[in-house]
Amino acid sequence: MQSISILGSTGSIGVSTLDVISRHPERYRVYALSAHSRVAELAAQCERFNPEVAVVGTAAAASALSAQLAARGLRTEVAHGPEALCAIAAADGCDMVMAAIVGAAGLASTLAAARAGKKILLANKEALVISGQLLMDAVAAHNATLLPIDSEHNAIFQCLPPGYSRALAPHGVEKIMLTASGGPFLLRDVDTLHQVTVEEAVAHPKWVMGRKISVDSATMMNKGLEVIEAHWLFGAPADRIEVVIHPQSVIHSMVSYVDGSVLAQLGNPDMRTPIAHALAWPERIASGVAPLDLAQVAQLSFSPPDMRRFPCLELAYDALRAGGTQAAVLNAANEVAVQAFLDRRIGFRMIDQLNHRVMDALPNQAATDIGTLLEQDAAARARAEAFITQ
Ligand code: NAD
Ligand code: MG
Repeated sequence: MQSISILGSTGSIGVSTLDVISRHPERYRVYALSAHSRVAELAAQCERFNPEVAVVGTAAAASALSAQLAARGLRTEVAHGPEALCAIAAADGCDMVMAAIVGAAGLASTLAAARAGKKILLANKEALVISGQLLMDAVAAHNATLLPIDSEHNAIFQCLPPGYSRALAPHGVEKIMLTASGGPFLLRDVDTLHQVTVEEAVAHPKWVMGRKISVDSATMMNKGLEVIEAHWLFGAPADRIEVVIHPQSVIHSMVSYVDGSVLAQLGNPDMRTPIAHALAWPERIASGVAPLDLAQVAQLSFSPPDMRRFPCLELAYDALRAGGTQAAVLNAANEVAVQAFLDRRIGFRMIDQLNHRVMDALPNQAATDIGTLLEQDAAARARAEAFITQ
């Protein structure tokens, strides 16, 4: 029996994780759950999974949750704020942590889980984009285990040999091929992209996800963040990470070897597959995902990405090549830009323009400590906000 803390349990990944766990009550027990503000959903999850601790964002949300739990006769302890999130990530009571908070808000708790030597199921790609080297160092120093939940990285992990040591050459790996659906605007006239509405941007053709990652998929910033994520997870330089557009989202990514072999992982686009894989690794458990019917899929197609249509992808490669604090700056600018787009304060094409301007405006620095990274994150947010209100 393994116990898990699910950070961001009311989100898309959190709900899918609870779905897989509910299929295996003999294997997994929920130690802690967290939500930012959706108190009613969290109370319902507590009733079903009976965790020892539940964490919310604010004191007000905590008292609302306490009242709802008391009304149900539940004894779950309630806590709130970033420190409480770090506490449930590092607690002796949990073996595993699902890091499924969206954005930089998930960084501190993911680092806390690494420092406590936990098995980390990493969905929160932004944590790795911001603090790649520091997070990987913490994982190594504290003997933690980092398993990728992002479908592409989970696929690559499955296509690499057991014992892979974060270096391509010794394992005969030529390159990593990240597949991308291309999102809702793959075929739309580029000259009309400035008119895109929020509703169009969040309507992903293949995946049902949170709003931030859905917009990131529409700009392909998501794939850019994933290129950086792949760099840190697998020790691959930028020129060995290739992005391939594959609209069917059946191949979740590939590894190309020096002998000409290409290994791919396939499946229906449903996050319960990578979640179940990481939960049980190195074993396999049922996830609830329907078996893949290739005859029904009928065709798999591939094309290179068009950087004019998706400038955010190019920006991510630029940030990765620049190193230092540039990826943290890009991530922070993008979080502000996406929120401003979702709030209808800026148009769709302003997202890539803001990201570009903020990267140009802030001088790159060495990313040797978390303080510098958080300072640059804050500076990038302030600069992005200033550009928006200008
Ligand atoms: P979501 O918006 O559906 O859920 C986000 C969760 O984080 C919620 O539980 C919310 O309460 C919590 N949260 C939000 N802001 C917070 C804050 N400031 N402090 C504490 N908690 C906060 O997002 P999602 O789609 O589940 O994505 C979660 C993460 O997983 C993201 O990093 C995303 O890139 C990654 N991811 C998601 C998918 C997917 O299919 N949804 C796929 C791959 C990777
Ligand atoms: Mg992905």
